[in-house]
Amino acid sequence: MDTPTREVYWNIGHQYLWVMYLLLAITVGTMAYAVYRYIRIFAPGKPADRFGDVGARLGAFFAHGVGQGRTLQRRYSGLSHAAFSFGFLILFAATTVVFIHEDLNLRIMQGGFYLWFQSLTVDIFGLLAIVGVLMAIAKRFAGGRGDRLYHPLDPRTLLDDGLILGGFLVILLTGYVLEGIRIVATNDPWGDWSPVGKAFGSVLQASGLGVTTLLGIHAFSWWFHLVLALAWIAYIPYSKLRHVVFSPANIYFRRLEPRGQLDYVDVEKAFEQDPPAVGVGKIEDLTWKDRLDTQACTECARCELACPASRTDKALSPFMLILDLRNQLLTQAGPPMARARRDRGDGADAPLDGERVEPNTDPVRESVSLVGDVITDAVLWDCTTCYACMEACPVFIEHVPKIVEMRRHLVMVENRFEPELQRLFDNLEAAGNPWRFPRTDRAKWADGLEVPILGQDVTVDEVDVLYWVGCFASYDERNQKIARALAGVLRSAGLRFAILGTQETCTGDPARRAGHEYLWQMLAGENVATLNELGVGDRKKTILASCPHCFNTLKDEYPQLGGHYVVRHHADYLAELVREGTLQPTVALDASVAYHDPCYLGRYQDIYDQPREVLGAIPGLELKEVSAGCRNKAMCCGAGGAKIFFEERRGTRINHLRMEQIQAEHPERVATACPYCMVMLEDGARAKGVYDELPILDISEYLQGSLVARTNGAAMDGTQ
Ligand code: SF4
Ligand code: SF4
Repeated sequence: MDTPTREVYWNIGHQYLWVMYLLLAITVGTMAYAVYRYIRIFAPGKPADRFGDVGARLGAFFAHGVGQGRTLQRRYSGLSHAAFSFGFLILFAATTVVFIHEDLNLRIMQGGFYLWFQSLTVDIFGLLAIVGVLMAIAKRFAGGRGDRLYHPLDPRTLLDDGLILGGFLVILLTGYVLEGIRIVATNDPWGDWSPVGKAFGSVLQASGLGVTTLLGIHAFSWWFHLVLALAWIAYIPYSKLRHVVFSPANIYFRRLEPRGQLDYVDVEKAFEQDPPAVGVGKIEDLTWKDRLDTQACTECARCELACPASRTDKALSPFMLILDLRNQLLTQAGPPMARARRDRGDGADAPLDGERVEPNTDPVRESVSLVGDVITDAVLWDCTTCYACMEACPVFIEHVPKIVEMRRHLVMVENRFEPELQRLFDNLEAAGNPWRFPRTDRAKWADGLEVPILGQDVTVDEVDVLYWVGCFASYDERNQKIARALAGVLRSAGLRFAILGTQETCTGDPARRAGHEYLWQMLAGENVATLNELGVGDRKKTILASCPHCFNTLKDEYPQLGGHYVVRHHADYLAELVREGTLQPTVALDASVAYHDPCYLGRYQDIYDQPREVLGAIPGLELKEVSAGCRNKAMCCGAGGAKIFFEERRGTRINHLRMEQIQAEHPERVATACPYCMVMLEDGARAKGVYDELPILDISEYLQGSLVARTNGAAMDGTQ
């Protein structure tokens, strides 16, 4: 029997093949022009060090770039995307094989390889691609994107999506028509290895069309298929399909630093330059990686769906932030790069309070003011830095660092920020806390508890743990009770602990998240000096933080200033004490409790199980999850990114929405592990009129109530 293969240009007049090569040359030229434009976009980018740890980068590349791990987290769209993208890859590979076989005259398309790959595999993946495209079309055009906040019928995106999905579908279908007619007309002995193509051919044959007609259809379809496929490929770099190349690259070059670590900047040196090299104020300030981020966006809008600001009708949409940056870069690269623009269909954001402006698209301006012209101040101040966007993004786009960089420019260069922030900065600088309470009152929460002060009452060698109290637990009346509960729990565990008392100052987290890098360095530097002087780092003593914001910056950002410490959050620490039997909760609490995940504990530090472990150890306690969002999908309470210190002026309140989500579970109580969340949730409970019947407690309060022989009500209502 002959070697399995097929004639490549069957039924195509060879004398016309020069037309094919001409079209191919035009396609390559069109793409080369796009490459030149992209070089113009990336080349001016500032440096970013994303080349280390190749192993970790390759791991993410294969898991999420090739394997589409994050894309598949949303089942319908993930499966649809995987089906047509793998179909596309296989078909592209098969076309390359044809080119090598026929045009380079390297006869590889034969034998087992021809049957198993070029026939069967290609046939199956082509069908998969059709299914994937049809699923995407159904979702895109048949109302399946009702969960999207932007307008699904925007003409520019309709055209883009129509060309991409519709074009690919027609390419796939005409491919089967070509294959089918060839199989039936040549009575191909290997036709059974292409079952879908053969089925197409059989249907056409059974329809009564004569051989001449079928050959005519074949020749016409071949040229039509060729022209459409080349046009579609040429369109890739000019449309959102550019992500086919840029998304895997973006995943490879993603941040490997701890999630909560913002970039360090030598402020004094930066201000020696003119203009100061602080933050991002102009498009020219973006690094090459920032630029890559914008081109990698698949426009899936998952970030927007997860964003608490977008969900409460604020000016900020992380999706549109990336699109606005991308459009600006493409505009500067000149036409005809496609510039998608989407307005949210609910009218909440287009424009909002006159604060959202169309991006400046004037291509002749050399230096567009990114902040103000393209990204409005309102957009930047709406962010809680909750990380939900970055967690949701299938291609690891980095929204939060960009927002903070732009805030740095606003605060440190333009001196323009939300009015309450001036008070925050002044208070932090003057008193080391956000409200200008006297430094001398910092340890007042511990009056009567006889908690020793490190360096005054005890040395670092005489303690097991240094309790980092933080500003809220030091001064806020509600959170002081949590500090007292935690102190009680540590005593119950027999641990020797101390506090810094008046030696402690704000960690600087709110200043850094608000963009005041200099103030953060000042406050953090003071704390690092204190801790190092006391020998906390040298002796590897555990610093126990009850505030996830303090925890994050102490653990992951203080090393930037020379502070290297063992830092634990109390959720993690208490879970360990319970696990090893040092703490044994015995007093039952027969109540259902919904746990709210703080962003800086969960998404930033991956501490999800430990607080649940603490609550789960309490006899009788029924733990409820918030089905609208828990663990890495939990919605922010609205406090992070220094938002707790200034008014939420736009849209509805984030903490009210979060409270509604919690209430939907009908819990009898609520638990959390963050002083910011405590303030926001209690405020939400007050607004919803459920403050008295729905007590909100920290996990340490629940634990303390179960450790001591008191009545449930007295021990677990937040009072001491
Ligand atoms: S960090 Fe949170 S608030 Fe900020 S853009 Fe992302 S999802 Fe929205
Ligand atoms: S930034 Fe990421 S999550 Fe948001 S639309 Fe783009 S790809 Fe999707």
